[in-house]
Amino acid sequence: DKAILIKDLKMNFDGKEVLKGINLEIDKGNIIGYIGPNGAGKSTTVKIILGLVEGYTGVVKIFGEDISEEEVYKKRIGYVPEVAETYESLTAREYLTFIGQLYGLEYDDADKKAYKLMDILEIKDVYNSKIESFSKGMKQKVIIISSLIHNPDILFLDEPLSGLDANSVMIIKEILLSLKEEGKTIFYSSHIMEIVEKISDRIILLNDGAIVADGSFDDLKESVHQKSLEQIFNQLTGF
Ligand code: ADP
Ligand code: MG
Ligand code: MG
Repeated sequence: DKAILIKDLKMNFDGKEVLKGINLEIDKGNIIGYIGPNGAGKSTTVKIILGLVEGYTGVVKIFGEDISEEEVYKKRIGYVPEVAETYESLTAREYLTFIGQLYGLEYDDADKKAYKLMDILEIKDVYNSKIESFSKGMKQKVIIISSLIHNPDILFLDEPLSGLDANSVMIIKEILLSLKEEGKTIFYSSHIMEIVEKISDRIILLNDGAIVADGSFDDLKESVHQKSLEQIFNQLTGF
């Protein structure tokens, strides 16, 4: 089975077609960069795959199962949402052990895993502090940890670098590459190319609800040139 299979996915908001027939087959164990300018439909695609948006047409499967199968969600999927919506009044420890238990872990296992990830991301000193006192980048790290705590097989990240400094970006890059080593599938959505061209096995360029290029970074540049999409592409790279 494919990690992700999407056929003719369409979505309308208020009469506007924001996804215009997306077709995608993603192999297991790949890192996919899903890039495109603001408003292209990246977050909508991710949210539909995760069952967070209704009213679409088309077929969406994860590991061969239709996305309505709840079991797939709890056990195998991790999600870093675009906006960090954490429980501000909780400590990182309270929040992360809560999420771990939601995913079915025992408290002690969740606590150990959360602390280990806090250590890797260099924020273990604030494990017992309230999230409301954290910087934006620290909140983003807590969200990333919450998506990894149950060891998911497939990880969806939506603009995961928000608020992160250069050193933290490097740590995230290393984490994603080590997840790939473990055979995990990663679907990385962003309007910026930062780290995407370095970690992705394949990059998909979305523009105005449609896939306009798909392939390696070099293939992508070639397609962008052929289709005169430089203006869009340059917004993403900032070159
Ligand atoms: P991206 O993540 O690529 O920036 P989005 O998927 O967030 O793009 O949005 C795609 C389009 O759909 C945009 O025009 C956006 O305004 C619109 N949109 C997204 N979510 C909603 C919503 N809940 N209601 C109405 N319009 C929406
Ligand atoms: Mg957006
Ligand atoms: Mg988005």
